[in-house]
Amino acid sequence: MLDDTKSNKVLVEVKDLKMHFPIHAGIFKKRVGEVKAVDGISFDIYEGETLGLVGESGCGKSTAGRAILRLYDITEGSVKIDGVEIGDTPQPNLRKMRPTMQMVFQDPQASLNPRMSVAAIIGEPLNEHSDMSKAEKREKVLSLMDQVGLNRDFANRYPHEFSGGQRQRIGIARALALNPKFIVCDEPIAALDVSIQAQVVNLLEDLQEEFGLTYLFISHDLSMVRHIADRVAVMYLGRVVELASRETLFSDPKHPYTQALLSAVPEPDPWLEEKVDRILLEGDVPSPSNPPKGCNFCTRCPQVMEICKTEEPPTVEIAPGHIAACHLYS
Ligand code: SF4
Repeated sequence: MLDDTKSNKVLVEVKDLKMHFPIHAGIFKKRVGEVKAVDGISFDIYEGETLGLVGESGCGKSTAGRAILRLYDITEGSVKIDGVEIGDTPQPNLRKMRPTMQMVFQDPQASLNPRMSVAAIIGEPLNEHSDMSKAEKREKVLSLMDQVGLNRDFANRYPHEFSGGQRQRIGIARALALNPKFIVCDEPIAALDVSIQAQVVNLLEDLQEEFGLTYLFISHDLSMVRHIADRVAVMYLGRVVELASRETLFSDPKHPYTQALLSAVPEPDPWLEEKVDRILLEGDVPSPSNPPKGCNFCTRCPQVMEICKTEEPPTVEIAPGHIAACHLYS
């Protein structure tokens, strides 16, 4: 459930989204298979909320974020942003929608052009999507720098002159330049020192409150997701296996994979640490080019049953707003 401060208007609707990448082999580059990075995910994101998308590395969460923003041509499914279907919109026509949806990338170092000044990087989207005068653009860039806590005197400096945290602030300022409604934050703090991770997360929260932003917050860090997300979706091998409010997911996880993930979160209190029941998953995550038949978690699930090996579990609502895909509940 959303808290009282959040809207009940759906801003982002994702339905049966698939993103498969072809595998080619041989001298004729024949298509021999496909990597099912995202294999039919569905969820809504409400205006003003943060939906956390969690899972181990390689589960498809980053690909899902990029596919939702149509940085790829998706294989199948529907993505609506503010009521507009963009799933099948040709790339050139997406340009009009770009200001509405933006992305903050994991590695600020790699996502900023080292040959451009900070002012040029932050102002770049304005060149393409606005008809502001040069002076107006300059003023907008400086005010964006203020909003993200960057000293405006450094507008003419280059990315390498900033720390990792400051570079991520530059990336956030650039994402904000066109007044977006929806931002995909793809592991935005994973490349930063622990000491500055909280500062960047607090900035994202402050900006959300100030501008009514809606976030898809992709992370493998469950403690951070617990801090920032209103609801949390758990992904495993290209599929969403459970989705619930933050409180419900962390206090009463239903899917065996979610239970295992949460049991692995380190407990800072050594006294409590001794009492934590860890669920150790056996084996590796199967390849997304050859996922298991039936439930895709059946090769590692501690509660696997015969039906799991042949039939894919349906996604069911086990309580209002709490969905899971597992035969234990179907
Ligand atoms: Fe485990 Fe079966 Fe549920 Fe899959 S469907 S998570 S294998 S119990």
